[in-house]
Amino acid sequence: MTTSLDLTADPVELTAALVDVPSVSGDEDALAGAVKAALAEQAPHLELAVSGNTVLARTNLGRPSRVVLAGHLDTVPINDNLPLRRTGAGGDLVLHGCGTVDMKGGDAVFLHLAATIAEPAHDLTFIFYDCEEIEASRNGLGRIERDLPEWLRGDLAIVGEPSNGVIEAGCQGTLRIELRTKGIRAHTARAWMGENAIHAMAPALHKLDEYEPREVDIDGCRYREGLQAVKITGGVAGNVVPDECVLTINHRFAPDRTAAQAVDHLRVLFEGFELTVVDTAEGALPGLSAPTARQLVEAAGGTPVAKLGWTDVARFAALGIPAVNFGPGDPTLAHTQQEHVAAGQITHCAEVLRRFLSRVSR
Ligand SMILES: [Zn+2]
Repeated sequence: MTTSLDLTADPVELTAALVDVPSVSGDEDALAGAVKAALAEQAPHLELAVSGNTVLARTNLGRPSRVVLAGHLDTVPINDNLPLRRTGAGGDLVLHGCGTVDMKGGDAVFLHLAATIAEPAHDLTFIFYDCEEIEASRNGLGRIERDLPEWLRGDLAIVGEPSNGVIEAGCQGTLRIELRTKGIRAHTARAWMGENAIHAMAPALHKLDEYEPREVDIDGCRYREGLQAVKITGGVAGNVVPDECVLTINHRFAPDRTAAQAVDHLRVLFEGFELTVVDTAEGALPGLSAPTARQLVEAAGGTPVAKLGWTDVARFAALGIPAVNFGPGDPTLAHTQQEHVAAGQITHCAEVLRRFLSRVSR
């Protein structure tokens, strides 16, 4: 049986309805089915497409610009936090449960707008995709990029990830490297016959401790970089001088650098160490100087802030499309058991986007 969703309902109620259809990554069939059925029935003005558990819908009105609104349908595993609970009432209503923050509030706002904006100022593309919370190779948006690339085209992408209802622009890149030191095994009773690989790592740890991360301003957004040791391994036995030590380092870098430039920076910093790149993900420039992005910033009326984590915004940026995060919910509550969202933030996001997306008659 498919749950039926009322897209014209208050986006707060629509959020509650979406939360009560569990959709842990890889298990989005029920929710994707309900979203598809609701769009087909309640938004007949939109062209629909489906790819696996990703549902796409768009207008084709020949407007001079196109805005892409993307939200993932999946959640992290349920943690005794479903079905949805409500506390407070009226203006103080809070929705609690898995997905309230990450990110069914954003999905509800987009679905509501998809069904209720008849005369948009821009052409609109809505993407409700699967498998965002798991390994990148299964990400629904990545599949659309490969199979239906024309559906990602636009002048601005809005990803509805939780941002406390504030525009978060761009995102930092992330990369991991491993430093490896070699030594010579020996009995610790005759340590002078060996070479200690763990001791040899000390200068690298010292550099990390002394490192002053950059703070970079781009389009009025401040990005704070980070360089942290996240793992260290080494040692063979309690009485053996270790012959190998591996230090894993995570670097979060501002989007004025490419991943390759960030790696080069680390090669200089850790000169003399054997350095292996484990993985990299490019950051995304905020792109707020693009005209469509500027209009959104005006409609939101606040000062945009830098996104510090990595999100699918970077995928759009890689395609040359300015992209921002804008959605209800406190991102620090995402993936926690206590996930909850204030109804007021959902309403706020819906109002801002309606103002931005609707054709103004003056
Ligand atoms: Zn998310």
